[in-house]
Amino acid sequence: MKRQRIVAGNWKMYNNFDEGRALTISIIQKLKPSDILTVLCPPYIHLNYASMLSSGIANLKVGAQNCHSENSGAYTGEIAAPMLKSVGAEFVILGHSERREYFNETDAFLAKKVDAALAAGLRPIFCCGEKLDAREAGQQAEVVENQLNAGLFHLSEDHFSQVVIAYEPVWAIGTGKTATPQQAQEMHAFIRDLIAKKYNPERANLTTILYGGSCKPDNAKELFSQPDVDGGLIGGASLKAADFVAIVNSFPDTE
Ligand code: PEP
Repeated sequence: MKRQRIVAGNWKMYNNFDEGRALTISIIQKLKPSDILTVLCPPYIHLNYASMLSSGIANLKVGAQNCHSENSGAYTGEIAAPMLKSVGAEFVILGHSERREYFNETDAFLAKKVDAALAAGLRPIFCCGEKLDAREAGQQAEVVENQLNAGLFHLSEDHFSQVVIAYEPVWAIGTGKTATPQQAQEMHAFIRDLIAKKYNPERANLTTILYGGSCKPDNAKELFSQPDVDGGLIGGASLKAADFVAIVNSFPDTE
């Protein structure tokens, strides 16, 4: 079995209803059938129609950018995993550095969100990555290991098999500074090794590990050529259909 390659677009808090619909349609028009799975992660207002428009397209799925750890309750302004599932979402981004930083999401809270997502039948795209000061101090491996231990490695292998990991060095997100292909490969291989030790080598080999951080059409090809980079989580460049689809088509065998 080969591991699934994925390119996911994190729209963040961009695009009103009409803009999002136009972007979704444009992506669908440009996307070719392939074994690369494309996942659109727009704001919640777009999930319902995006999942309807993508139904019947085998290589296109829809995901959300967050969910709460509870299934329902008095949590004004929040959204629950079963709600996302009910409008056709199949994935949910969890642990994005913007959620960790601006909304004080801790690893312990993220572990509960991961559990809630899996219980609802959503596949978490779990983000990890070090800040600039940690990279400069050579502590990137330690930071990522701690995030995975606290947020993910409590899962059974069965549950873990549903998880996609996104390595996103915080210093590369939205900054135009990309990790070099070598830096990405080194961290992805390290993460795969952690999974092999925690679960087993086969599970490690099957786990999809995405790179995220200023990934663009002109650097995606080199990043996606690395043996342990299985695709990308794309922010800014996912807001332009041509750029996003160019990134989807950047794997060595899809040009
Ligand atoms: C992201 O938000 O996950 C991301 C990778 O952003 P950007 O591509 O804009 O750096």
